[in-house]
Amino acid sequence: MPKTNNKIFLNKKIYVEELKKIVKKENILSHEDELKPYETDGLSAYKEIPMAVVLPENTDEVSKVLRYCNEKNIKVVPRGAGTGLSGGALPLKDSILLGLGKFNKILDIDYGNRCVVVQPGVTNLSITKAVENKGFYYAPDPSSQIACSIGGNVAENSGGVHSLKYGTTTNNILGLEVVFMDGSISRIGGKTFDTDGYDLLGLITGSEGLLCVITEVTVKILNKSQSAKAALVGFSSIEDAGNCVSQIIASGIIPAGMEMMDQLLIKATDDFVKAGYPREAEAMLIIELDGTELEVKELMNRVVEIAKKNKSLNIKISKDDNERIKFWAGRKAAFPACGAMSPDYYCMDGTIPRGKLAEVLTEIKRLSKKYNLKVANAFHAGDGNLHPLIMYDANDIESLNKTEKFGAEILKYCVKVGGILTGEHGVGVEKRELMCEMFNNNDIQQQIKIKKSLDKNSLLNPGKVYPILRKCAEEGRVHVHGGKTKFPDIPRF
Ligand SMILES: Cc1cc2nc3c(=O)[nH]c(=O)nc-3n(C[C@H](O)[C@H](O)[C@H](O)COP(=O)(O)OP(=O)(O)OC[C@H]3O[C@@H](n4cnc5c(N)ncnc54)[C@H](O)[C@@H]3O)c2cc1C
Repeated sequence: MPKTNNKIFLNKKIYVEELKKIVKKENILSHEDELKPYETDGLSAYKEIPMAVVLPENTDEVSKVLRYCNEKNIKVVPRGAGTGLSGGALPLKDSILLGLGKFNKILDIDYGNRCVVVQPGVTNLSITKAVENKGFYYAPDPSSQIACSIGGNVAENSGGVHSLKYGTTTNNILGLEVVFMDGSISRIGGKTFDTDGYDLLGLITGSEGLLCVITEVTVKILNKSQSAKAALVGFSSIEDAGNCVSQIIASGIIPAGMEMMDQLLIKATDDFVKAGYPREAEAMLIIELDGTELEVKELMNRVVEIAKKNKSLNIKISKDDNERIKFWAGRKAAFPACGAMSPDYYCMDGTIPRGKLAEVLTEIKRLSKKYNLKVANAFHAGDGNLHPLIMYDANDIESLNKTEKFGAEILKYCVKVGGILTGEHGVGVEKRELMCEMFNNNDIQQQIKIKKSLDKNSLLNPGKVYPILRKCAEEGRVHVHGGKTKFPDIPRF
């Protein structure tokens, strides 16, 4: 983590009093008991108590808070709902945590332009809830959608089971209002499909709270398809299931969702929600097709044919919408079901080329034996996004250390086979040291130059995403001579 600025910490009382002049008194939390709930996010392995939590209620307050912190050199960590799985919203001891929870209003529903304008603290699911009575929905559907905020979704470029066909957050937003660290407010995009100039929407989506604070989001909404059906397909091997996935895509069919689970997770989730999964199967696919009734029927026939060619053990097709939703309920409960099998689980998030699935799973099995830790596997199989869930005990420091090493080895292997470190959960603190696996010196330097052009003093969510140079240097990945790099701009945390 970045070095703690003790001077800032010593002046905490003064800063808290000053911030109380910007936001309502009751929206500043500084007592240890009030700060405790904010000490971590969904990656509960790391914890830190911030100097204070500030809960602004409007953009003007955000702007004033950021300007004040910029002047006083105070670090700021933005936070949505805190469901992130890579430690992105993890506070720093000498930072304020800027909670966007009070930004929870839907500002405009515009069916004519097929969009909804929302504040960043609105939950993902409540956007769909607000428009479903008119037959619309918001497509990206992370499994955490009941809790996670749309601001967090933009910051992480979140996806979900339907991203294969409908894209991730970046494909489903039109406009943003953002506040930069110097307090300036900008509008990017709007209600139209394209804007002039650089694709700043693309730059900010996935920026993990390092470039700006998002204070408003305009999302696209889609018409619900006339019909949707899901198939549960069991296989006796991961290889067969993986081949089936590749062949479905190669045949030109893009399912609305195509998810895979391994046997451990099939049983665990079926115990959890009684979804009628094929418990004897080594691997199972959930394949959803949507469109007109005729289209779905025709495509489902072709999917069944491909599944049979790939030695499927059994195929169950949803009879109605209730059954289809039940099929998905198991997949959506994959993480809680893991929680029922082990005191803690560590969810990895690598992405690989689809054809490498069987190879990577074989490696994960080998590593599971090496580290003597159980793993359950869930994948957004259609997009090659793996979620190995390593089961461990966070109270046992040795178990935690082993788990982190195991996770890092999985992600390194993903990169080795042509994949990437993260599919949707972001880099945060968790994968920061692995960035040198993906990017060279120049790549990282260019990215940091962009950050510094928007946040000169590196005060917005510092210590996230970019590696601590010393570690990369030790591994020979960046060149440090006499304690100096060729790149003085790279922060030396
Ligand atoms: C059970 C479970 C299932 C999950 N399933 C999925 C899944 O299927 N797909 C998926 O993509 N993710 C999934 N996640 C991860 C997580 O829900 C997403 O990353 C989500 O987008 C985080 O949103 P949040 O509001 O909780 O953000 P937080 O955790 O609060 O923050 C995440 C990051 O965004 C930044 N941030 C938050 N709000 C703002 C803002 N307004 N302005 C600037 N920066 C901001 C923070 O600084 C941090 O870096 C899952 C998590 C859990 C616990």
